[in-house]
Amino acid sequence: MIQSCSAQSKNNSPIHHRGDRFVNLYPFKELGFFDLLKWRWQRSDKNIPQVDSYHFPLAHNDPEFLRRNRTENTVTWIGHSTLLIQVNGVNILTDPHFSERASPLQWIGPKRAVQPGLKMEDLPDLDLILISHNHYDHLDSGSISRLKQLQNEIAPTFAVPLKLKKWFADKGIKNVLELDWWQFEKTVNFEIIAVPMQHWSKRNPFANNDTLWAGWVVKIKEFKFFFLGDTGYTPLFKEIGKRLGPFDLCAIPIGAYEPRWFMKNQHISPEESLLIHKDANCKRSIGIHWGTFVLTDEPLDEPPRIIAELKPEMGIADDEFIVLQHGETMILE
Ligand code: ZN
Ligand code: ZN
Repeated sequence: MIQSCSAQSKNNSPIHHRGDRFVNLYPFKELGFFDLLKWRWQRSDKNIPQVDSYHFPLAHNDPEFLRRNRTENTVTWIGHSTLLIQVNGVNILTDPHFSERASPLQWIGPKRAVQPGLKMEDLPDLDLILISHNHYDHLDSGSISRLKQLQNEIAPTFAVPLKLKKWFADKGIKNVLELDWWQFEKTVNFEIIAVPMQHWSKRNPFANNDTLWAGWVVKIKEFKFFFLGDTGYTPLFKEIGKRLGPFDLCAIPIGAYEPRWFMKNQHISPEESLLIHKDANCKRSIGIHWGTFVLTDEPLDEPPRIIAELKPEMGIADDEFIVLQHGETMILE
């Protein structure tokens, strides 16, 4: 049974509900079409490297081990925000993206710099698939359809933010757990709670914030995992840390942050990623949402360099905040 513990407004609806739409808990001045034009125009002057100019190495991993593993705790970074987490015998996939482009069309839009670090066919039987929001770099139609085919008999649970259930139902996917911020659900294998992020949603020109965006906290026995969706930096992370932490593993975005005047309310900078690691009370974090699609103005390979520079300055031990190679598996002690 779904339960909730979110703040209510005077008319008894949660404060982030506005009619058919959703708003952030720390509202900011939304940027409009002309801001977008200004960004794109300034960008044309900047000589942003083309995606084909990057050569990221693909780490060697062991798909056979991952497929049969139900005892070791592991995390594998497949690329962008896609992770395979194996904890206490439970297999979780986050924001599955295995397609060539982060786009509604597969012939135009941001193209992959590197192939997925694990083929979809090599995934183990999944228990849970987390979806943070409906942007094309996080909710990829082709990947979800193929996952449905490949994992059909196992029928993993899809955890999705409010109003996204229909999108899955339209694909014939029934095993969907749709949660509002601070709502939680307990199953035999895990407990899960949706937490607020500072972001937005849009999948077509006519829809704005009509489906919710979220992060996910999953507890599997004593292990607590926190998956952040896209987000700006707010005091929310201290609150999440206080209410639900400490976390054994956090997955925190580190890329897609320039230019700050355009991005700062919706995407954190690497420095803010490290602040969130501390705010949310993460024992260990890994950096995601980088190195895969050119979405913003910073070089695609810049985030890990900044993270490495800042860690000592911010008193964070080297193995406390980790950036994996594409396809790399880390065994979690
Ligand atoms: Zn997004
Ligand atoms: Zn994103």
